[in-house]
Amino acid sequence: MSDADASAAPTAPDENPQVRRVSDWDADRLRDLAAEHETPLYVQDIDRVRENCERLLAAFPDADVRYAVKAHTGRAVLEAVRDAGLDAECASAGEVDRALAAGFDGSRLHYTAVNPPARDLDYVAGVAAAEPDLTVTVGAVDTLDRLAERGYDGRVCVRVNPGVGAGHHEKVTTGGAAKFGIPYDRAADAARDAAERFDVVGIHAHAGSGIDPEQLDSHRELVARMGDLARELADPDGGAAPVDLDYVDVGGGFGVPYEEDAPPLDLPAVAEATREAVAPLPDGTDLAVEPGRYVVADAGVLLTRVNTVKPTPDETVVGVDAGMTDLLRPAMYDAYHPIRNLGGGRDRDGGDAPPVAEREATPVTVAGPICETGDTLGTNRALADPRRGDLLAVGIAGAYGYEMASQYNSRPRPAEVALDDGTATVVRRREALDDLTTVEREAARGRADRTEGGR
Ligand SMILES: *Cc1c(COP(=O)(O)O)cnc(C)c1O
Repeated sequence: MSDADASAAPTAPDENPQVRRVSDWDADRLRDLAAEHETPLYVQDIDRVRENCERLLAAFPDADVRYAVKAHTGRAVLEAVRDAGLDAECASAGEVDRALAAGFDGSRLHYTAVNPPARDLDYVAGVAAAEPDLTVTVGAVDTLDRLAERGYDGRVCVRVNPGVGAGHHEKVTTGGAAKFGIPYDRAADAARDAAERFDVVGIHAHAGSGIDPEQLDSHRELVARMGDLARELADPDGGAAPVDLDYVDVGGGFGVPYEEDAPPLDLPAVAEATREAVAPLPDGTDLAVEPGRYVVADAGVLLTRVNTVKPTPDETVVGVDAGMTDLLRPAMYDAYHPIRNLGGGRDRDGGDAPPVAEREATPVTVAGPICETGDTLGTNRALADPRRGDLLAVGIAGAYGYEMASQYNSRPRPAEVALDDGTATVVRRREALDDLTTVEREAARGRADRTEGGR
């Protein structure tokens, strides 16, 4: 946290609201960006990322705040988060590589190894040789052995399965799933054993994603258990050697309100509840949190163009040029994303459609171009009566949006622009059809080269 820009003036509360809704975005700006860069297009506002970092740091002034990089790995985001003073929590070698490139040094890098592939461990052990302050968070004793085999004897954090989970969908609830972490009852012994071979600096638990006002109790329970474990390690019953921790990391999962009428998370209240539940921490042990979604979600929208309007007896199906390959969350998690019609389309007779403010709200399903029933961005939505050519903004799309994009159905991935101090920059170019076959063509070229070499 030493690189924090202390000179950055805190933003007044009304200039830094708890959430930016899709209705808060400047419609003209979004229409201009779509006209210039075409659709589907992600827009990520780096200024809003900074505001979210500021609110987190203000709510957790004495904690280590780490950004869970997987929510959005774009370089501009990582650099803004680094400048704000957050550390980076990385889930793979690829994310460590990105974080290093964005200027995080080892002391601000946390690699969370979940069943880590050998290639990832090789890479991270190599990085650690040059950046010995890097920390590896480990959720299985096998992983410790595999690190030792690679000559790693540095900083280790023990990931604990606390046996309680929070989360808005079972697929993002990790706290209770056996895949993640060492079972709570064995964690103290595992940490003490690890301390004989490594520098054990922390314990960690991540309950899952989507801590919201209704799930505060299970969050509090997880945090309390982690406090108990830290105290047990510092002051063990019966003869064991104490383990002094630098930190207790209680994970991320801070929710954002996807529904238009859902209240924003009361972050200061969550922070207060967290501090209370974990206390008293042993001297020298700090609290750490690692939000991903909260940092980036409401800083992003996905712009998509209406290409088909199909009335059916039950509903109107609005076909758009973005689908589950651009934004997977609705198909994968039944996730709700707010959708706003920004207009600009044409009537059947070819004339300009009326401004959206003059159109009637119509129940529609917004469907993408993929041959899958689940390929919808929203069902039963009341949108200002959509016309062909209208631009839609899909809100709260900055977390796990571009990151989960794929080329399924041979659809090139969308472009992304970053807004920074008002200036728009293309940070991910739109993929072309050629990009779909790059690895095939390179493999074919490799085969041809080998055949020639063999002659
Ligand atoms: C995904 C993840 C996070 C961040 O979760 P959010 O819901 O985006 O805040 C934090 N820690 C770990 C270990 C994760 O896997």
